[in-house]
Amino acid sequence: MTLDNSLEKIDPRFVPYRKLYTGAKIPAIGLGTFGSDRFSADQIAAAVLDAIEIGYRHIDCAMVYGNEREVGESIQAVIKKGIVKREELWITSKLWNNKHAEEDVIPTCRQTLKDLQLNHLDLYLIHWPFPNHHGVGVDVNSRDPHAVPYIHENYMKTWRQMEKLVEMGIVRHIGTSNMTIPKLKLLLRDAKIKPAANEMELHPHFQQPELFQFCLDNQIVPIGYSPVGSPSRPDRDRTPDDTVDIEDPVIVKIANRLNVHPAVACLKWAAQRGQIPIPFSVRPEQYWSNLKAVTTEPLTEEEMHEIARIDKNNRLIKGQVFLWKGAKDWRDLWDLDGQIASV
Ligand code: NDP
Repeated sequence: MTLDNSLEKIDPRFVPYRKLYTGAKIPAIGLGTFGSDRFSADQIAAAVLDAIEIGYRHIDCAMVYGNEREVGESIQAVIKKGIVKREELWITSKLWNNKHAEEDVIPTCRQTLKDLQLNHLDLYLIHWPFPNHHGVGVDVNSRDPHAVPYIHENYMKTWRQMEKLVEMGIVRHIGTSNMTIPKLKLLLRDAKIKPAANEMELHPHFQQPELFQFCLDNQIVPIGYSPVGSPSRPDRDRTPDDTVDIEDPVIVKIANRLNVHPAVACLKWAAQRGQIPIPFSVRPEQYWSNLKAVTTEPLTEEEMHEIARIDKNNRLIKGQVFLWKGAKDWRDLWDLDGQIASV
């Protein structure tokens, strides 16, 4: 898919940013790169290239997305063309679950750097707090026979290696993903280098107000994944009770007022609330309007309140594949009663 030249470029200086506790500035919207099984690595890399040309400066990558090599080519291409300097880009990547072992963390990060053709990452996250391995795209009922619940001692061993990456100068910030308040409390207690960001599911029907506030209170920037409500996620990630954010009457009403797609209304809400949405798209008109969302007319205070009231606590990415033998169901992964589940 190539850039539609009729789409105007968006000056990145007009894109808001958030400050991390280090003082570094992270653009308030990024481009997701998880194509699931719908789009090829080349399609996603083409979108990354075009998106940076359009004005995106923040790209959310991960080794498990299987496209860092192709995405790296695009990043190189825009730098070589003189469209952007490395220091103007914010590149995030993530350590996958089968690489939590102490000896794996540094080589895995180096591989990501090699694939992305970078000397450093701006942010490196532990993708999930569970070391349980499963292949990409497996059925939700598939289980790793060696799966274990969260073990803080082990997580800290992985975290120490993440800290080393910062000390080595090849990662500027480290952070977490798919964490809960009890787990973050332990990490904040024991970390030498605190997490700068937590990537978590956030959209109007799943606002996670307590965790969101906890992050803000602890100077952890919340990065929101599936910010549009992941409307095209594969069937394996759907359950009959799931609701659809972009069909919510409040979202549709706001979108109609602004004459935009409901997805854009979700992103305006996200950026204004204070999280950093990382919408995925390989369609130029979509990723263009998603970036435009944060540089144009904001939602009114009343609209922000209206959206706050449509939270349905509807988690889409439940994480069933991480369950260990003896776990009741996916709720065990999320510490809903404030306790970290054990075997
Ligand atoms: P999104 O909410 O970003 O949904 C993406 C889909 O929404 C697109 O495929 C597109 O559907 C539709 N869409 C996007 N923009 C528009 C628009 N302007 N108008 C109309 N439709 C639009 O969910 P994802 O689940 O894809 O998550 C986004 C990113 O978050 C991922 O790519 C990944 O980087 C990250 N992520 C991180 C996770 C983690 O564990 N840390 C977990 C999950 C995601 P269509 O293609 O059908 O047009």
